[in-house]
Amino acid sequence: MSAATHEIIRCAHVTVRYGERLALDDVTTAIPCGVATAILGPNGAGKSTFLRALLGWHALAPGGEIRIGDAHAHHQLPRLAYLPQRHAIDWDFPITVRAVVAQGRYPSLRPWQCLRAADHAAIDRAMGELGITELGDRQIRMLSGGQQQRVFLARALAQGADIFLLDEPFAGLDLYATEELTHILRAWVAQGRTVLAAVHDLALARAHFSHALLLNTRLVAAGPVAKVLTEEHINAAFRGGRCLHDNPLRGVSTTHFPA
Ligand code: ADP
Ligand code: MG
Repeated sequence: MSAATHEIIRCAHVTVRYGERLALDDVTTAIPCGVATAILGPNGAGKSTFLRALLGWHALAPGGEIRIGDAHAHHQLPRLAYLPQRHAIDWDFPITVRAVVAQGRYPSLRPWQCLRAADHAAIDRAMGELGITELGDRQIRMLSGGQQQRVFLARALAQGADIFLLDEPFAGLDLYATEELTHILRAWVAQGRTVLAAVHDLALARAHFSHALLLNTRLVAAGPVAKVLTEEHINAAFRGGRCLHDNPLRGVSTTHFPA
């Protein structure tokens, strides 16, 4: 994937709490523009919280700041598109594919304003790019997991965003749909878009993402994949910082993270 030109997201001292529970602790990092960055870490590491914090959905503890481009995160929402974790979506909700994609245009409409010709054109373009034009009238609950994923990616695309925040987009996809999604993300990056995705599979992150961010409430490492996904960093993130001498993964494939 293309080389980083500059950093598009900057986080300084980002701390997020849910009541007493610390979800992100003093995270300072930057996300390069126009590349695919995988966010990795054990369950509960704060991956979803990090993505939602970028959207401005969580109050940061005093002293924390997130900047998108040169502006504060709150002023940059149209640039950001978000794909929620699969379980956060009600797949039984009676809605057609086209209506879901059209939701991507709502943030740009005034209250009660109807979709304009330009909105319909953006919806058509997004559906065409994701190969779901023929599925427009289908109910989303009738689609395969891979097709459903493409509908939600089309919704993000229709929004006109150039930064895509994807929460576990590969979860629940079969091999074919996984392969398809990696092609879509590659194409987006080739077009200069920025992709930031929470990912569970280490091999997938290594193969399809040029950058990685390893979290375990605190930032463990961030940067080019080869520098971040080292045995030492993976141990620090997944085994609470145990040193390499008593590495429980030694000799064991680290294709997938330990449960
Ligand atoms: P990940 O996506 O890496 O699994 P999350 O960001 O979902 O991690 O969660 C980080 C921490 O915050 C976890 O300890 C989780 O239990 C907690 N958490 C997440 N969402 C909430 C919430 N709405 N209320 C309370 N605690 C939460
Ligand atoms: Mg999560």
